[in-house]
Amino acid sequence: MPGFELFGDKERTHVQEVLDSGVLMRYGFDGMRNGKWKAVSLENALAERMQVKYAQVVSSGTAALTVALASAGIGAGDEVIMPTFTFVASFESILAIGAIPILVNVDDTLTLDPESVEQAITPRTKVVMPVHMCGSMADLGALKQICEKHGLLLLEDACQAIGGTYEGRPLGSIGDLGCFSFDYVKTITCGEGGAIITNNENYHKNADHYSDHGHDHVGKDRGAEKHPYLGYNFRISELNAAVGLAQISRLDDFLYLQKKHYTILRKALELLPGIIFRRVPLGGVESYAFLSFFLPDENSARSAHSALARNGVDGCFYWYDNNWHYYRKWEHLLQQKTLGKLPEEVVRQLPDYQEDSFSMSDHWVGRNISCLIKLGWSEEEVKNRASKMVEALRPLLNNQ
Ligand SMILES: *Cc1c(COP(=O)(O)O)cnc(C)c1O
Repeated sequence: MPGFELFGDKERTHVQEVLDSGVLMRYGFDGMRNGKWKAVSLENALAERMQVKYAQVVSSGTAALTVALASAGIGAGDEVIMPTFTFVASFESILAIGAIPILVNVDDTLTLDPESVEQAITPRTKVVMPVHMCGSMADLGALKQICEKHGLLLLEDACQAIGGTYEGRPLGSIGDLGCFSFDYVKTITCGEGGAIITNNENYHKNADHYSDHGHDHVGKDRGAEKHPYLGYNFRISELNAAVGLAQISRLDDFLYLQKKHYTILRKALELLPGIIFRRVPLGGVESYAFLSFFLPDENSARSAHSALARNGVDGCFYWYDNNWHYYRKWEHLLQQKTLGKLPEEVVRQLPDYQEDSFSMSDHWVGRNISCLIKLGWSEEEVKNRASKMVEALRPLLNNQ
C-alpha cells in the first residue's frame, strides 16, 4: 500500500517547483507563484480520476471526515452510524463536531453489516459512514437503499481503498460525500493530507470555506474576504500537495502492482483448505491494498498470526487485538476519557455498549488476518513470501 515506497523524480520535481517559488501556502500570493497551484491541481486531478464534480484537499484524512460532516450541516446531537472495525479517526471526526458516534457490527465483508445499520437508526440518525477497510468496500447498494428510505446521508470513508470500484464507479464517488487520506502509509501519500469528493455544489462550497476559517474566497485580497459562517483551519500546504500531485498521477501504476502482488499471494493461499477470503460485495472490485482471510476460529487465527511472524512474513495484522482499529481497545471512547468536558449531547446519547452487542463483529474480526500488500516487492520476493505463508499456515489447518 504505501506510496512512499516508490518516491522518485516526479515527487522531487513538484516539490522543487514549490521551493523555487517560495509559496508554501495554497491560497493567495498569485504574483510570486509562477503559475504553480499544487493543491488546486491536485483537486482537479482527483475530481477527474474519481469521476466527480468537486474535490477539496485538506490537511489529513481525519480533517476530511470532519470537514465532510460539517459541510453537510451535521452538528451537536446528530447520530452518525459507523463500524466497530475502522481507524479511530471515524469517531474522532464525529466527536469533533459534537455529533454522536453509533457503533454498528461488521460482517464477512469486514465493513458495515446493512441489517445492523437499519436496526441502529433512530429519529436522530443523520449519516451512515461505511469505512472501506483494507482495500475492499461495504455493500454500497444495500446501504444506499437504506439511506434513501430513511433520508440519511451516505458518507464513504475510502481512506484505505483508493482506486477500488463499485459497479464500475470509484469508491468515494458513490455516496453523497467521500473521503480519502494521504497520510504517510496510504496508497498515495502527501506526507500528511486528505480529500473530500462530492457532486454536491453546496457541500463543496461549504468544505472550501469551512476548511479555511470560513473564508469565502471571493476576490484576490484575503484580508477583504467575507466569512459567511464559522470555520476552522484544515488547510494543506503546497509542499504536501506537491507530493500528492505526483502520486495521484501514479495511482494506476500502484494499483497494477497491488493487484499483481495480491494475486500471487491469494492463488497460493487458495490451495489451503480451511482458509476463507473476505467477501467482496457483488459489483465490487478491490484496490488490493491488503489480502484478508478468515481462519476457522479465534484460536487458529491467533496461532496463524504468530506463525506468520515466526516465518518472517511481516505486515500481517490480527486486528481483533489491535489498539487502534477495533472497538474492544477503544476504552478512551467507551469510557469517555477526555481532557475537557464532552458536549452534553454526547454524554447523554453515547450508548452504553454491552459485552455481547458486537458478537457478529467479534465472530468475523476474531478470525481475520489481513496482510499488507507492498508496492516495492520484486516478483521473486512475492513468490517467496507466498511459500512462507503456506508453510506457516498449513500445519494449523491440518490440526483442525
Ligand atoms: C488513515 C485513515 C484515516 C485518517 O487519515 P489521517 O490522514 O491519518 O488522519 C481515516 N480512516 C481510515 C479508515 C484510515 O485508514
